[in-house]
Amino acid sequence: MNGHRAPESDVVLITGETHVDHPLSASGVIARVLESAGFSVGIIEHPDWKSDADFFRRGAPRLFFGITSGSIDSLLVNYTPLKRRREKDENAPYRSAMPDRAVLVYTHKVRALFPGVPVVLGGIEASLRRFAHYDYWDDKVRRGLLLDSRADILVYGPGELAAVEIARRLADGRDLQGIAGTCVVRKEVPGNFTEIPSAEAVAASPEAFAEAQMKFSVRAPLAQRHDTRYVLQYPAPRYTPGDLDRIYGLPYSRMIPLGFPEFRMAQFSVVTHRGCFGRCSFCSLALHQGETIVSRSEESILDEIRRLVRHADFKGYIDDLGGPTANMYGMDCDTACGKPCLGCSRLPSSHERLISLLGKARAIPGVKKVFVRSGIRYDLALSSEKYIRELVGHHVSGLLKIAPEHVSKKVLRMMNKDSGEAFEKFRRAFRKADASGRQHLKYYYMVAHPGCGPEEARELAREVRRLEKEGDRPIEGVQIFTPTPMTLSTAMYHTGRDPRTAEPVHVPRTFQEVKEQKRMLAAGTRKERARPGVKRSARLGRTETVPPSFRGRKR
Ligand code: SF4
Repeated sequence: MNGHRAPESDVVLITGETHVDHPLSASGVIARVLESAGFSVGIIEHPDWKSDADFFRRGAPRLFFGITSGSIDSLLVNYTPLKRRREKDENAPYRSAMPDRAVLVYTHKVRALFPGVPVVLGGIEASLRRFAHYDYWDDKVRRGLLLDSRADILVYGPGELAAVEIARRLADGRDLQGIAGTCVVRKEVPGNFTEIPSAEAVAASPEAFAEAQMKFSVRAPLAQRHDTRYVLQYPAPRYTPGDLDRIYGLPYSRMIPLGFPEFRMAQFSVVTHRGCFGRCSFCSLALHQGETIVSRSEESILDEIRRLVRHADFKGYIDDLGGPTANMYGMDCDTACGKPCLGCSRLPSSHERLISLLGKARAIPGVKKVFVRSGIRYDLALSSEKYIRELVGHHVSGLLKIAPEHVSKKVLRMMNKDSGEAFEKFRRAFRKADASGRQHLKYYYMVAHPGCGPEEARELAREVRRLEKEGDRPIEGVQIFTPTPMTLSTAMYHTGRDPRTAEPVHVPRTFQEVKEQKRMLAAGTRKERARPGVKRSARLGRTETVPPSFRGRKR
């Protein structure tokens, strides 16, 4: 059977996730945006990669295949932080429908079955593997994905504007060079590009790896040599509020497919802005979506909510009104100079636009409650008691989750997070704002981050006990740090040094040390101490065998 029947659509999107016609679905947004630009789109979701049939389902597209793993890297989907396959994880078994390295596997398949049809890579897996990167699961530096996949072009970031430009150029028979927010492979480097250390150099030397890390940016034209060719990154397009109003204003059906119940919790979530200037070292958002805030207009957001009120499934609740960081809405600085925004006098850090939006949103007829479930920056929120009162008074359902991540000053410095004073101030401000006394704070912590040794882990366990003694319900989630491509923390993990200062950093690398840090933190909680019966050491896996893929190198 071959794909050479008449093209059904201009573009065929292949995604590792379930496709949802929803503004929170990566393929959902790209499909709607391409259709609104006049292109027809076919979808192939989580195809069976062991056979060909699924890949023939839509025939050959007239213009290109768009390939993505979706909103999460396929290796994060398929493995626990301790590199155990999720389907074998006794705590939370999960069998995904996509292969490891989904973007590569799908691209190789399409290349074999549809020779000559252009292939465009997109989504988070492609975006953050656009340059040579440390791959935690292989425990080595891998080449940029374009080289391994032999695709034609890679779109990084959200990618709507680039996807439409690619479709237009292919429709006009024009080449794909120079499109904002894309990467291509070429033999020459255009004059205005900054060359970062080559793939060979970053694989061979921690210093070169650190240098490349510090030069990564979405604002710069960058080039990285891979043997005799170059990965060229064109700077990301500057999205405008109007672009986001148009993208999120499209008529998504928001119908949740059967078999995808987890999406139901976000069915009526509304995106207010993009970008985050928090610069947490373990987060790659700034290198995907950018750190400049782009906020939608208030009217466009309120219009969207008015439309949701008429949706057949709507029960009166907006599941979330937010963005990467909920309380950065309205903090748009057109300068986009690339310096750290936190603490900059030119940052428009007022919460007034957000307070106005929240007030008007909850006043829309048919809306019973507007929840804010996206994370908030509590250090930023401290500048507005009024915002904290609004949030606690109207938009929290008994529990506000915040992410202090750690308590050790050394680890927080590695994480580039606030040093702790803001945390205590926010706890007090929260209690003061909570007239009912029925609202609670819950905290996200991260263990095994570079910089966190046994002493820092003990410090965190003591902190959890302290918070519990003071009546807080400390732990919402204990995250084990996972070195994902292109983050500053991953560079620390891989090189054993802080790329910002070159100072050596302790890296918890062994299975035992990571497990011990998690055990210490959990052991700090009353809930864990109260668990009946099971002998302490066995309870938290001292007896567990080390997964083969975790037998990482001892540095
Ligand atoms: S001027 Fe300040 S707030 Fe604006 S982008 Fe630069 S650092 Fe950020």
